[in-house]
Amino acid sequence: MKRWFRVFIISVFALAAVSLVVIQFVQTRRTFSISDNMFSVSVGNAMESVIRQLDGEKPYSTAPFSYQELDSIIVEELIVNGIDMHPVIGVYDGSQGSFLYSSDPSREGDLEYSPYRYSFRPHGVVSNNQFFIILSFPNTELFLQRNPNLYLYMSIFLILVVAIMFILSLRTIANQRKLDQMKNEFINNMTHEIKTPISTISLACEMLSDETISQDSASRANFIGIVADENQRMRLLVETILQSAKMGNKNFSMNPKEIDINALVDKVLNSFKLTLANRNGGVERHLDASPSVIVADELHMTNLIYNLVDNGIKYSTGAPQLVVSTAVDGHNLLLRIQDHGIGISKADQRHIFEKFYRVSTGNVHNVKGFGIGLNYVAQVVRLHHGHISVDSEPGQGTTFTVSLPFKK
Ligand code: ADP
Repeated sequence: MKRWFRVFIISVFALAAVSLVVIQFVQTRRTFSISDNMFSVSVGNAMESVIRQLDGEKPYSTAPFSYQELDSIIVEELIVNGIDMHPVIGVYDGSQGSFLYSSDPSREGDLEYSPYRYSFRPHGVVSNNQFFIILSFPNTELFLQRNPNLYLYMSIFLILVVAIMFILSLRTIANQRKLDQMKNEFINNMTHEIKTPISTISLACEMLSDETISQDSASRANFIGIVADENQRMRLLVETILQSAKMGNKNFSMNPKEIDINALVDKVLNSFKLTLANRNGGVERHLDASPSVIVADELHMTNLIYNLVDNGIKYSTGAPQLVVSTAVDGHNLLLRIQDHGIGISKADQRHIFEKFYRVSTGNVHNVKGFGIGLNYVAQVVRLHHGHISVDSEPGQGTTFTVSLPFKK
């Protein structure tokens, strides 16, 4: 998705969301003002009928004035007019400025400010004073659910949910695109990486089949060394791809057994002898871990060490100088692989263990790779309940520390 198109979609969405909230708000307000009016009209009708009754049309009027009766007449009439609520009821003497009666004295304050105020003359009362029946509906908001803010908050909440879903979808699309791009790069790199050793090996074989060259022991050793070197590189490549793919599989199983890490590291480092010699590099070994036997999968451990050492060499400019050490730290065995190569920036260190992630300078330095080696290494460490960390400074070098527990 192009950047401008993404900005366009997000802007349209934001505009639509804001408009929706505004429309919803205005509409809700309008609906409530209509229902407010209808409510007032119904209360008015009910009270008109109540006052008519109090004026003598109904038998209640003949009895001495009873506030309990008044209460029940009002509630009855409200129900007849569609309002199933029990309001606070007060009888107010306007001239005295005091309540003659209130159904809930603690709410007289509400009654005083209530708009539902109806003038009447109690039966048998001879006075010029003005009397009112006042009603107050304290729970109207809750009862009619007519709190406009509630609806507004609900709309905002729903729009937020939709917005989050929208952002998640955009992110998924972007991630999908990135993954696609990474997969394409991966296939390109892989084709290149496999083609190169194949052609180098076939060239070396051609040379070896030439009698003059094969009779010269130094040249022969050189070409055999090239074949062995390229073969080992291809082996590591294929192994890493295969094992990494297998790890994603549910049926993936390990084959743990007791292995001596010092011996294994020694073996792997020996296989890099030629590569290092070709680049005038070297490895310092400090295999001091004692004990050095852990229970682990030999194949994966071998690949793990291969990958880390291979990276140390790959990402060193000039002659690679590595320091490989093992040590014991409490219940863990530590394996440290240090190089003096190009290093990794702090920002990239956070991503290097992700599948297909490659630091862009990797290509600038013309180092080929797939970005799956460290992901595979991290998975192997995780499967062995260990821990891997990286310490690196751009231009200074990198140290990977793998910590593996002796007991799981
Ligand atoms: P790749 O096939 O690209 O080497 P990895 O998963 O092994 O893939 O490494 C991921 C990235 O981490 C590499 O592209 C490289 O930029 C960086 N990296 C890994 N090891 C080192 C190292 N020892 N020194 C510098 N950069 C490294």
